[in-house]
Amino acid sequence: MTAPTPQENLKRGAHDEANTLSPDQRTLTVALIIPVFNEADTIAAFLSDTRAVIDPLQTSRLRFQLLFVNDGSTDGTLDALCGARRDDSRIRIVDLSRNFGKEAALTAGLDACDADAAIPIDVDLQDPPGLIPQMIDRWREGAEVVVAKRADRSSDSRAKSHSASLFYRVHNMLSKTQIPENVGDFRLMDRAVLDVLKNLPERRRFMKGLFAWVGFKTAIIEYKRAPRSGGVTRFTPWKLWNLALEGIASFSSVPLEIWGYVGSVISVLAFLYGGVLIGRTMIFGADVPGYTSLMTGMLFLGGIQLIGIGVLGQYLGRVYDEVKRRPIYVVRKIYEDDD
Ligand code: UDP
Ligand code: MG
Repeated sequence: MTAPTPQENLKRGAHDEANTLSPDQRTLTVALIIPVFNEADTIAAFLSDTRAVIDPLQTSRLRFQLLFVNDGSTDGTLDALCGARRDDSRIRIVDLSRNFGKEAALTAGLDACDADAAIPIDVDLQDPPGLIPQMIDRWREGAEVVVAKRADRSSDSRAKSHSASLFYRVHNMLSKTQIPENVGDFRLMDRAVLDVLKNLPERRRFMKGLFAWVGFKTAIIEYKRAPRSGGVTRFTPWKLWNLALEGIASFSSVPLEIWGYVGSVISVLAFLYGGVLIGRTMIFGADVPGYTSLMTGMLFLGGIQLIGIGVLGQYLGRVYDEVKRRPIYVVRKIYEDDD
């Protein structure tokens, strides 16, 4: 007989908790992966809300782990976490050596996680912990990924929600990997999915894209996104712009390939225009020197070429980052059970 899958174990655990356990019916662990960057003010609220949700779910067969990744915070975040860890042995902390960005911090958390399922969640309570029981239920029913979809983004500014929806449209037009709109990093992933993510070789990580790329059986639950519980967003418009570029450049080479077509069309047009000019000169003789058309053509082509070079640069930069094979993040210290 093959060993039961985590889902089967859970189903049994839910229904006949009192039965004696066979050796392969081990306790299942669900890890919450929480990247934090200067979040000293929001951690306490996050912990109290999350505990209120997970404590009642905890049984002898289902355990939780709170895996914080301190992404180079410069405020009291690490102290707050260490303090919380003294009272709650479920808390583990991966302390990164500096700020590597949310994508890298999430990667560090997923790498450090040895649980049967993981749920990346923001510390600012914008991803409501209240959804966790529902996610675990869907996992129990056999889903390997349970994504939480924002039913509305009214808590975001107009500019942010418009630019986000523009990004999804452009990205999905250019890329074969379709990212579902309004789905963030908040999701439950089964061990099988985590193992695939862990083994992806790339350094530049656009998590939303990678999450969509891996596939697996996916269930969707909807929620309303709340405003931040405290503090301010760590994502400036410039960081968001770069994240959007990362997403497109990591999952589409259309921007790179399109210049061949643009170039061809312009060449054909230039050739035809050249023919017209030659024909006109032959029929009507030499015209007044065409300073304006010359300048316009030159500036236009110069501009197009610079854009093309810029796009090449975007990709070349990414290739350069990949070939250097530097690690995605550096861990200063991991705080867990035995220290
Ligand atoms: N975060 C991080 N490193 C960063 C920026 C953000 O670990 O460089 C964390 C942050 O602490 C929070 C989550 O990522 O837990 C989401 O950040 P934020 O709420 O600022 O983003 P927003 O919700 O505005 O997109
Ligand atoms: Mg937030």
